[in-house]
Amino acid sequence: MFDSLISFVREQYRTNEFIPLHAPIFKGNERDYVVETIESTFVSSVGAFVDRFERDMSAYTGSPKAIATVNGTAALHASLLLAGVKAGELVITQPLTFVATCNAIAYCGAEPVFIDVDRHTLGLSPVALDEWLHEYANLDADGLCRLKDSGKVVRACLPMHTFGHPVEIDQLLAVGKRWGLIIVEDAAESLGSLYKGQHTGTFGQLGTLSFNGNKIITTGGGGMILTGEELGVKAKHLTTTAKLPHPYEYVHDEVGYNYRLPNLNAALGCAQLEQLEGFITLKRSLAARYESELQGSELQFFQEPKDCRSNYWLNAVVCENRDRRDALLKATNDQGVMTRPIWQLMNHLPKYATCLRGDLSNATWLEARIVNLPSSVTPELSA
Ligand SMILES: *Cc1c(COP(=O)(O)O)cnc(C)c1O
Repeated sequence: MFDSLISFVREQYRTNEFIPLHAPIFKGNERDYVVETIESTFVSSVGAFVDRFERDMSAYTGSPKAIATVNGTAALHASLLLAGVKAGELVITQPLTFVATCNAIAYCGAEPVFIDVDRHTLGLSPVALDEWLHEYANLDADGLCRLKDSGKVVRACLPMHTFGHPVEIDQLLAVGKRWGLIIVEDAAESLGSLYKGQHTGTFGQLGTLSFNGNKIITTGGGGMILTGEELGVKAKHLTTTAKLPHPYEYVHDEVGYNYRLPNLNAALGCAQLEQLEGFITLKRSLAARYESELQGSELQFFQEPKDCRSNYWLNAVVCENRDRRDALLKATNDQGVMTRPIWQLMNHLPKYATCLRGDLSNATWLEARIVNLPSSVTPELSA
């Protein structure tokens, strides 16, 4: 049934071997920079590559500050703390995301509220957000957003740019402003993705990236906080054990975190970042070939939203229904072409099942239909 798709994927990667969903590629200066780090002995949380990785990422994204962290989840946790999220408060997010988004909220002692996504972005819907807040929340005399019944504070909103496709961040910022919410963007999947020419993760007060092994560039494990000057200084402090500068004394002025990215990982990151635009060119041309291959088939290729440049981190198709989705997953995986369904909705996980939520029709519809197709950059892949 899906034989022509399977042979198409094999042609792209020019192999009859197993084809993974997303594998990293190290064809640049990775080895040189890592060896240089070992030879310098500065392999840990201080070193030239951490500083350079932050400077390079700040320049690439246009974010005034970029603070490297041990992983994307840590970047999210620290960002929510910096946004002022406290125990007992609420943070609005989308049910269609990777579990790290929700876990970071839980680490703060706060609870997620799930609001529906839009079908054309796969990300948090500004309209659904505004409608839910109108029905269930009020602005109090201090300008805090509180639920009408429990009085709980809704502190922040955490949208995610799914598979690299930007959410409607302009409208989300407008809704956030109306309701006194701090916007933190989970841009873990969208490094290199632009919304109206501006880098995702730089619209909200804070944004976060991930450099896990499956992301568009990797540091082994790693993440980054993108933010302005003032929060940037606080972010560096909070993620480096809250140590005050002193020639020899250990002075820490709050409970800090050991979330600093090691120099060894940053060395890998600097080399990967040098190649990012090349990766995006290859990914975008692969996406265009998937799109034209699947025209007129039962699978609808998911295309980047209007006014956006997506990094097409993971290519996605929308199947006709859950049965066809299951058939596609089985046929491809049986034949050594790795595909995966989208995540289960977060409100289906035991830990988050009792969280507040709005109507989730679009998320439910997408959950039953979305499949990711192989999306790696490899030496065999042509532009
Ligand atoms: C990868 C990812 C993260 C962070 O993951 P880490 O493995 O901690 O770097 C967060 N949110 C989303 C949506 C992700 O895909």
